[in-house]
Amino acid sequence: MSFSSLGLAEPLLRALTQRGYETPTPIQAQAIPLILKGQDLLASAETGTGKTASFTLPLLHRLATAARASGNQANALILAPTRELAAQIQDSIQMYSRFLPIRSTAVFGGVNITPQMKKLRGGVEILVATPGRLLDLVQQNAVRFNQLHTLILDEADRMLDMGFIHDIKRIMTLLPSKRQTLMFSATLSPDIRQLAQALLINPITLNVAPQQKTAISIKQHIHPVDKARKTALLSHLIKEENWNQALVFSKTKHGANKLVKSLKAAGVDTDVIHGNKTQAQRMKALADFKRGKTQILVATDVAARGIDVINLPMVVNFDLPTAGEDYIHRIGRTGRAGLVGQAISLVSADEIKQLWDIEKCIKTQ
Ligand code: AMP
Repeated sequence: MSFSSLGLAEPLLRALTQRGYETPTPIQAQAIPLILKGQDLLASAETGTGKTASFTLPLLHRLATAARASGNQANALILAPTRELAAQIQDSIQMYSRFLPIRSTAVFGGVNITPQMKKLRGGVEILVATPGRLLDLVQQNAVRFNQLHTLILDEADRMLDMGFIHDIKRIMTLLPSKRQTLMFSATLSPDIRQLAQALLINPITLNVAPQQKTAISIKQHIHPVDKARKTALLSHLIKEENWNQALVFSKTKHGANKLVKSLKAAGVDTDVIHGNKTQAQRMKALADFKRGKTQILVATDVAARGIDVINLPMVVNFDLPTAGEDYIHRIGRTGRAGLVGQAISLVSADEIKQLWDIEKCIKTQ
């Protein structure tokens, strides 16, 4: 397969040849024709697969024949979690659009906002942005989206990990509902699928990265226990069995706070991460846990996304998750690098039904 057989415009083919790209990567071969047709897309693809070009090239192809953006307007918006990624996407756009009269710019926080406002004054066909700075620019009336027809979210899972969900929801309220939306994510977790359901219309799902599976080296235990005795049992297990480190999942933020208080009162070294904590607090809690400074880290599912602790020996489900996929995602944090992980679930009578759902989910993996 060649790029020209995908139907891309000649100025793009010229830029690709100049760059030395000969054949499309698998994600490009699959995604480009669908995006050119105007299809909404949910794609799981990691960095290194050529994902940036898979959305940039068809976007540029469509923009090449579209009307230019008016002042303070953007025709296409690409959201990225970090300034590094935003800058990298902008570099790719500039390279591929070198023979096209398309204006693009990247905006992100941590730098002076004034030059970004100036750049937006004349309008841009493509705006690459991190969510927080984009909202600042909207607040300053520097950019509007009446002419927007394409929205792309890159590394959507990382955006959720970094707590951008509220910013993303706010941004959505500013965009026309009639648009093409593309979402790229390294994993297609339940959170991502939920977000996709809210943002995309009849999307096609592309899967070029392997999905996370339950690691085989995890021993799973169930402790039936009265709901009111869960905290006492957990604190007993931690002390009696001399646990080294454990990541403990709580269903709610309130429950997490309560548990931390009780464990601390029982003399257990505990910290907590959940959505009500600031980004700085979460990063510190996580860094301390990774360094082995904290023995027990209590987390909610959303806050725990992206936590990767090497050689984590134990995961505890203080509450069972409602979705089976969440259970698999939770316990997948242990049992790596040749270590047999332990997953302990404290199950009260009212959670028995969830246990059935989890078992079904494990069997279909
Ligand atoms: P990405 O996954 O978008 O971060 O891209 C990974 C790397 O692959 C980047 O350095 C791209 O420039 C390069 N790349 C993307 N598409 C192709 C292609 N079709 N042929 C050769 N290299 C490519």
